[in-house]
Amino acid sequence: SPIPDYLTEVLDTCTADVSGTVADYIPELAAADPDRFAVALVTADGTVYSAGDTEHAFSIQSISKPFVYGMALDRLGFDAVLEKIDVEPSGEAFNEISLEHDSGRPLNPMINAGALTAHALLSDDASPHARGEQVRSLFSDLAGRDLSIDERVAASELTTTYRNIAIANLLRSYEVFFDDPEDVVAGYVRQCSVSVTVTDLAMIAGTLANGGVQPSTGARVFSRPTVRQVLSVMATCGMYDAAGDWLTTVGIPAKSGVSGGIIGILPGQLGIAVFSPRLDRHGNSARGVVAFERLSHDMNLHLMDAP
Ligand code: GLN
Repeated sequence: SPIPDYLTEVLDTCTADVSGTVADYIPELAAADPDRFAVALVTADGTVYSAGDTEHAFSIQSISKPFVYGMALDRLGFDAVLEKIDVEPSGEAFNEISLEHDSGRPLNPMINAGALTAHALLSDDASPHARGEQVRSLFSDLAGRDLSIDERVAASELTTTYRNIAIANLLRSYEVFFDDPEDVVAGYVRQCSVSVTVTDLAMIAGTLANGGVQPSTGARVFSRPTVRQVLSVMATCGMYDAAGDWLTTVGIPAKSGVSGGIIGILPGQLGIAVFSPRLDRHGNSARGVVAFERLSHDMNLHLMDAP
């Protein structure tokens, strides 16, 4: 098939871009090899194409956010979740202390304030290990194989996560949730530490592309209305303060994470994932953005183009 050759060519042409820097506020992420580069595509019927460092594992980080939001939606229903987390783009950085004025309600589930809240909506049991296991199991279902939590990354983030502790305390003070803020952060940090490869991420994205049914196992993971909600929020908020730039240039719902992954979804057709650890000033993978621009252009992925 010519597709893997094409993907290799995309990586080759983007390799020259060494702009940006590896995230260093989580000590374990600072140790990442900045030159790793990988891409994978999964079609809605489960065919996988990939190139580059496809075996390399990394922590999922913020790419976990839309899926935990989806799990909360399926568990509690739309009204109950919207009462706690709005769906308005913040235009701000992922770790902004961004809460609605009177209610303390986070602006959306893609920034940390909203993601911490979505995490707290996963279960009544606030134990970080129980919620971590719930999330690990969710991502295993989405990837179609058993995934694990990288305990080194989780322990490392816990030592420096003062800002998330601050956000969680504010959320608790506004009574957005009633759990112990430290438990919520510890569980959220476990959520961010699920270990994946680029192929896992493409499968996880492919499940959204396929309307919530995992393309290789055939298991339904999310209801269709939940998938629509998750993709809509990804389209408007998934790339933080670069969301508008991304939607105009790449034109598909997406989510990035500070370890260097980006996923994108073409509904009904394709789950895409790219991994490269150097980040631009928005905290999105620099090469990942360039690679997605190229893929979108070459394969006519932009959703606003007439067919
Ligand atoms: N665990 C990271 C944090 O909360 C995730 C951030 C990200 O990937 N953008 O800071």
